[in-house]
Amino acid sequence: MLRAANRLFVAGKNSAWIRCLSSVPQTKPEVHFNKIFINNEWHNAVSGKTFPTINPATEEIICDVAEADKADVELAVQAARSAFAFGSPWRTMDASTRGRLLSKLADLIERDQNYLASLETLDNGKPYSISIAVDLQMVIKCLRYYAGWADKIEGKTIPVDGDFFCYTRQEPVGVCGQIIPWNFPLLMLAWKLGPALATGNTVVMKVAEQTPLTALYIAQLAVEAGYPPGVLNILPGYGPTAGAAIAEHMDVDKVAFTGSTEVGHMIQQAAGRSNLKKVTLELGGKSPNIILKDCDLEEAVEQSHFGLFFNMGQCCTAGSRTFVEDDIYDDFVELSAERAKKRTVGDPFNESNEQGPQIDEEQFTRILGLIESGKKEGATLLAGGERAGDRGYFIQPTVFGDVQDDMRIAKEEIFGPVQQLLRFKKLDEAIERANKTSYGLAAGVMTKDIEKALHIANGVRAGTVWINCYDVFDIAIPFGGYKMSGTGREKGEAALDSYLETKSVIVRTPQKNS
Ligand code: NAP
Ligand code: MG
Repeated sequence: MLRAANRLFVAGKNSAWIRCLSSVPQTKPEVHFNKIFINNEWHNAVSGKTFPTINPATEEIICDVAEADKADVELAVQAARSAFAFGSPWRTMDASTRGRLLSKLADLIERDQNYLASLETLDNGKPYSISIAVDLQMVIKCLRYYAGWADKIEGKTIPVDGDFFCYTRQEPVGVCGQIIPWNFPLLMLAWKLGPALATGNTVVMKVAEQTPLTALYIAQLAVEAGYPPGVLNILPGYGPTAGAAIAEHMDVDKVAFTGSTEVGHMIQQAAGRSNLKKVTLELGGKSPNIILKDCDLEEAVEQSHFGLFFNMGQCCTAGSRTFVEDDIYDDFVELSAERAKKRTVGDPFNESNEQGPQIDEEQFTRILGLIESGKKEGATLLAGGERAGDRGYFIQPTVFGDVQDDMRIAKEEIFGPVQQLLRFKKLDEAIERANKTSYGLAAGVMTKDIEKALHIANGVRAGTVWINCYDVFDIAIPFGGYKMSGTGREKGEAALDSYLETKSVIVRTPQKNS
C-alpha cells in the first residue's frame, strides 16, 4: 500500500524519513475504552458478555471487550435512525459544518497519533514504524479528503420537455451498516466513515473481533469533535452474530463490507432476504504481478517483494501470483529468495523489524497449511516455509518457485507472507493466465516498455493496475474489484456515490406561452 511504505522499503533508502515520523512508540499503551459505543455513550453488552482481544506477538490477552450481539445492534440502529430523523441536528447541519467536524476528527487523530499507532500495533501486530508512518498518515489524509467533499456534493438542473423545472438533490442513503476487517483496522474505518459522514449518513459499524481497540478510541474522539449522539455507533463483536444482525436488519439502508469473499456472499444474501438494502463489497483477491524481461530487475524484485510481503501478506491486493518472463526467471527467483531471507521478522515495536506476527492462530494455522500444500504439490521451496520463533503468530517469509496454475497456493488467497513465482513465455499467455481466477482486485506490471505495459493494463480484468509500482493507495484513487473481488468502489469521488441517493424534483411552472 501505500506510496509511503513503498518508498520506505525500496532499497531501504528512506529510514531517515521514517524516523522523523515514527517518534517513540508506547510499548504498553493503556486501553481507555472497551465497551460498546451507542448514542455517544459507553455501554456493556445487553447480554453482559465480553471477549478477549489478543496481542498476536505474544499470544497474551490485552483486555476483555464488551461483546455486541443482535440486541446491541438493535439499540445502535435505533440510535442511528433517531439521529437521521428529518429535522434532527445532523440532518439540518450545514454541509460545511459536517466537513468541519470530519476535519476536527482528523486533527484529533493527528494529535493522538503516537498513542493510536501504538495501540494498533499492540492489537494487530503490524510494525509500529508502519502504523505511524503509513496507517495513521493515510487515515488522517482520508478524513481530510472527505471533509473537503462535504460541501461540494451538488445536484443538477435538468432541461425537461413541457412546462416544468426539474432539479436533483443528492441525499444521504440513511443508516449505514459497516463491517470491517482486522488487516488495516483504522484505515478501513477511515475509508468507510469518511464518505459516509461527509454525505450526511449515520453509521453502525462492527469492528473486527481481533482488533477492536483503536476504533473504540476513535469513537471517543468523535464525541470530542462534536458529532451529535447516534451519528456514529461502534460495536465490537463477532461476525455471525453482530455482523449478521446488521446485514439482516430491516431498518439498515445500506451495508458496506470488507473481508472474505465467503462472507461477502452471506452479506449479499442477507440483504436480499431482508430489505434489499444497498450493498458494497470489498473482498479478496489473488492478484497477478507480471514481470517482463526488460524490467529493471532489482527494482522489480523489490517491488514484487513489497507487493506480497507488506503487512505480513495480509492485503487483499497482495501480488500473490508473480508471473515472470522465461528469460529472466532464474535470476528473478534467486534474487527474490535472497530478499525474502533478509526480511527481518520479530517484535513489531522494534523499529528494525519489517514483519510482525500474523493476526491470529486461525490465520497462522491456515497459512502454514497452505505452505504444506505447496510443498506436497511439488512447488520448489526457496525460502522460509516454517513458523518463526516459538511464541506469537510469526511465519518465516516464504518463497515458492516452479508454481503451477492449478496448485492451491496459486489459486487460493493465502493472506500471509508466501510468494508464488510462476514462469511464462508470451505476453498474451500471461494476460490469459492472469485472468484465470474468480477474483479481479488488482494487478501489477514491471517493464520499461510502456506499450506492453498498457496492453497488459487494458487486458487484465482488475479494479487497479500498478505499472512499475505496487500498492500505491492515494485516497483520491477509486478502489474496488471486478468479478468476485467485490461490488462498488471505495476511496476517491467514486465512494461518495454509494452513500448517496439521487432525488429528482419536478415543479410545474406557468405555461411558456401564456
Ligand atoms: P471475514 O470473516 O470475512 O471477516 C471480515 C469481517 O466480517 C469481520 O468483522 C467479521 O467478524 C465479519 N463477519 C464474519 N462473518 C460474518 C457474517 N456471517 N455476517 C456478517 N459479518 C461477518 O474474514 P476473516 O475470517 O477475518 O479472514 C478470513 C479470510 O478473509 C482471510 O484469510 C482473507 O483471505 C480474507 N480477508 C480479506 C480482507 C480484505 O481486506 N479484503 C480482510 C480480512 C480478511 P469477526 O470479527 O467475527 O471475524
Ligand atoms: Mg488483537
